[in-house]
Amino acid sequence: MIWNEKIETMPRAELQELQSERLSKLVAYVYERVPFYRQQLDQAGIAPGDIQDIRDLGKLPFTVKADLRDNYPFGLFAVPREEILRIHASSGTTGKPTVVGYTRDDLQIWAEVCARSLAMSGAKPGDMFQNAYGYGLFTGGLGMHYGAEYMGVAVVPASGGNTARQIMILQDFQPDIMACTPSYALTLADRLLEAGVDPAELKVRAFILGAEPWTEEMRRELEAKLHVDAVNIYGLSEIIGPGVSNECVEAKDGMHIMEDHFLPEVIDPQTGQPVPEGQVGELVFTTLTKQALPLIRYRTGDLCSITYEPCICGRTHARMSRILGRADDMLIVRGVNVFPSQVEAALLQVEHIAPHYAIVLTRENHLDVMEVQAEVTDAFFQRVGSDVFARHPAEVAESIQALERQVHQALRDVLGLNAKVTLLAPGQAPRSEGGKLRRVIDKRAL
Ligand code: ADP
Ligand code: ZN
Repeated sequence: MIWNEKIETMPRAELQELQSERLSKLVAYVYERVPFYRQQLDQAGIAPGDIQDIRDLGKLPFTVKADLRDNYPFGLFAVPREEILRIHASSGTTGKPTVVGYTRDDLQIWAEVCARSLAMSGAKPGDMFQNAYGYGLFTGGLGMHYGAEYMGVAVVPASGGNTARQIMILQDFQPDIMACTPSYALTLADRLLEAGVDPAELKVRAFILGAEPWTEEMRRELEAKLHVDAVNIYGLSEIIGPGVSNECVEAKDGMHIMEDHFLPEVIDPQTGQPVPEGQVGELVFTTLTKQALPLIRYRTGDLCSITYEPCICGRTHARMSRILGRADDMLIVRGVNVFPSQVEAALLQVEHIAPHYAIVLTRENHLDVMEVQAEVTDAFFQRVGSDVFARHPAEVAESIQALERQVHQALRDVLGLNAKVTLLAPGQAPRSEGGKLRRVIDKRAL
């Protein structure tokens, strides 16, 4: 079903008119209320009335994550503290987290876009939803929670982790829809199969997966293991949280952006200029309706492309591709740009390789060395025998060597780079305990 038929299938000309109207209001709003933006606009020589149309968007200055940090914690808020009803913060791998706030209306918009996302994923009122996104400062849990309730879906607020309990809920409560990170879905799938649970015993029909990059290969793997539709959801706290965009289950071909609230652009990260439609660049959002933390041309650091081609589901909103990686996730190995998602895609093309891996970067004689540690499947492991595997590589069995060569070649084809390949026994690579998973260990700076 389409949750908000009128908005989601709005003819594009009409949608653009709505966006223009909202954009012009937004510029006046931030000029009036946020000292940071008043200064930015003054510096750029822009008066609030100058921006009347989304075609003027390029005249506005960018906002970057550092601007949020410099104004930590509440400095960019556009409403008095008393009007803020919710505060979240993103983890922030270094230093202080990024803090975001919501007014009552913001929370309503968030519930709306999450309800749309759930509907795109195949949920409908009356369903039951197991929400295994983390509840807490992370936006994932509570964001989806209120979207589901707003839709009329029963929520099981499982939160992340505690895999045995997640499996119990899946078996005993029989939810229709589940959400978690893709790496955690894999943990769950493996544990379910280990426990001898037949996916056919479960009612769950869709997994809504996001918060970290994943690949088409991973989708195939998860759909086959779990007998579900695996759909992609995207969001970031600064813009609202989950629900910025979501795939429709009909096409599973790009995530529809909630364009009436979040105006997207794709730019060349070096020059800041827009790239042509369909080309990969850095995703930039302007929030058109948010009250507490309105952001103008916020640079997400996420790399993807956008298409405005009509979709078979009938929605008219633009679709963004999978995120290839965050600009700051990109590894530079001997001058070659490598995204962990490319490594994943390469590995999953090779038969007998499980979707569990780690990337370890070191420096030997001033040269970068990329080691890809990839797990073999259980079946392969059983076949060659664990004792043989343990002695490897001293007495390498021919089949192991051949598999290593295959992985090496797949990585070379995709990355254009010679990686050191280490095959791991099942269970040796890192697993998600419930949230986002770090698969890269960069020891080069140590
Ligand atoms: P944190 O900064 O703590 O990770 P967020 O939840 O705000 O907190 O993270 C948002 C980021 O997560 C996005 O900018 C993007 O890099 C990543 N992300 C979210 N959803 C997806 C997705 N479906 N595919 C790839 N990356 C995603
Ligand atoms: Zn669609």
